[in-house]
Amino acid sequence: MLLNTYPLLVSQDLVFKSKETSLRGSIKLIEASLSGLETLTVDNVSAALSSMTETGVNRLLVTDPFGRILYDSRKENGAVGMYAFYSEIAEALWGNDAFYCTYDEQGFFSRMAEPVIYHNEIVGAVYVYEYDTEQAKLLKGFQQNLMTISLVVAVLVMTLSFALGRMLTGSITNLLTAIRQVREGSYSTRAAVRGSDEIAQIAAEFNSLTDRLATTENARRRFVSDASHEMKTPLAGIQLMSDSILQTENMDGATVREFVSDIGQEAQRLNRITEHLLALTRLDSGSVPAVDDRTATAVAEVMERVVRMLAVVAREKGVTLTWECAQDAVVRATEDDVHQILYNLMENGIKYSTHSGFVHARAAVEQDMVVITVEDNGIGIPESDRPHIFDRFYRVDKMRSRAEGGTGLGLSIVKDAVEYRGGTIAVDGRGEKAGTVFTVRLPLAEGGGAE
Ligand code: ADP
Repeated sequence: MLLNTYPLLVSQDLVFKSKETSLRGSIKLIEASLSGLETLTVDNVSAALSSMTETGVNRLLVTDPFGRILYDSRKENGAVGMYAFYSEIAEALWGNDAFYCTYDEQGFFSRMAEPVIYHNEIVGAVYVYEYDTEQAKLLKGFQQNLMTISLVVAVLVMTLSFALGRMLTGSITNLLTAIRQVREGSYSTRAAVRGSDEIAQIAAEFNSLTDRLATTENARRRFVSDASHEMKTPLAGIQLMSDSILQTENMDGATVREFVSDIGQEAQRLNRITEHLLALTRLDSGSVPAVDDRTATAVAEVMERVVRMLAVVAREKGVTLTWECAQDAVVRATEDDVHQILYNLMENGIKYSTHSGFVHARAAVEQDMVVITVEDNGIGIPESDRPHIFDRFYRVDKMRSRAEGGTGLGLSIVKDAVEYRGGTIAVDGRGEKAGTVFTVRLPLAEGGGAE
């Protein structure tokens, strides 16, 4: 509409201007013919204007100083002798030039009046008017063309916006449907990605988010089923043994004690599983204490304590437990973390050792990391199993793990704890020799590594 109105107003203005110039030209010619007349009369004006054949205007009036018409270019129904009540003439008789132009869609109606002056005195007025339908027709055509163009543009714009809108809402609707399906639990749903616009990017992001969700959900399901399975075995054992005690009449005291002791062991195993599950859940939910710049735990103290705790078990199995630790090995982790890590790794070392084997723990500072290694010359872990041993409930030898009282969670807890504190863990064999080496790297605490 703006584009339509503006050129129209401008062209209208241009026509007004050109009308003013042409009327002024005509009026000047007429005034020139009347110059030199002291007073204007019907006769002398007619005589003066008789030579003017073409004035270029539709009507020409000449009045005396009182507005009485002395000359009228219209011959039929002429107004000579009447008073002209045109505001333009009144203005001219007051000594001003007057010009008005109006446009009424049919034509341009322009009027101009100027005073006739003789020796600084107004002796009359000249009034001309023109009614131009030609230019009006041109302007109207122009206006109509503009209208048509605008209409075509408007229809085009609307069609295009509608089509684009449909396209856009179409892909958003697809995405929304996919989001709803995933929310309902259908993790296999993927949003269709078409093109490379922002919506397609959102759809791609959503798909990768759903992939992660599906993986997490699968892991959660597997975890819950594994955990229930792990707990079912000792529970079934407890039930079986208590049933046996109850159902066997006159069971001798020694057998009862044996059964009860087995029940106690199974309960202990349940306890261990629960503790491990709790530890994992705490790490998963991030509800373990956060560390800051002031958190510092000297590995040596913890290592000494863990060795002391495991010494009895090691002695029973005939395993030599040794350790060496740099005093400046201070890690940016809590004492609980370090204890958890060392205890699980060293306990595993003892559990999976052969008789008269050894377990050796060591900690040293390397640049801004504390490197802890736990080495044993036990049964070792086959290379194909190494990538999986940190998975929850993964065991190389299920029977042996069970027999040793393992839960299959120890290494997952260690890995989670290490990574939660910004460290890494790796497992290796001992080259040609039998055994395993676990290497944990934990960030050095501020003030550590000074030695
Ligand atoms: P578990 O409670 O069964 O020991 P872990 O998560 O601590 O569970 O370890 C997972 C598996 O990795 C164990 O079942 C065992 O087969 C293997 N493993 C861990 N540490 C050692 C080791 N030092 N030597 C040999 N095998 C090991």
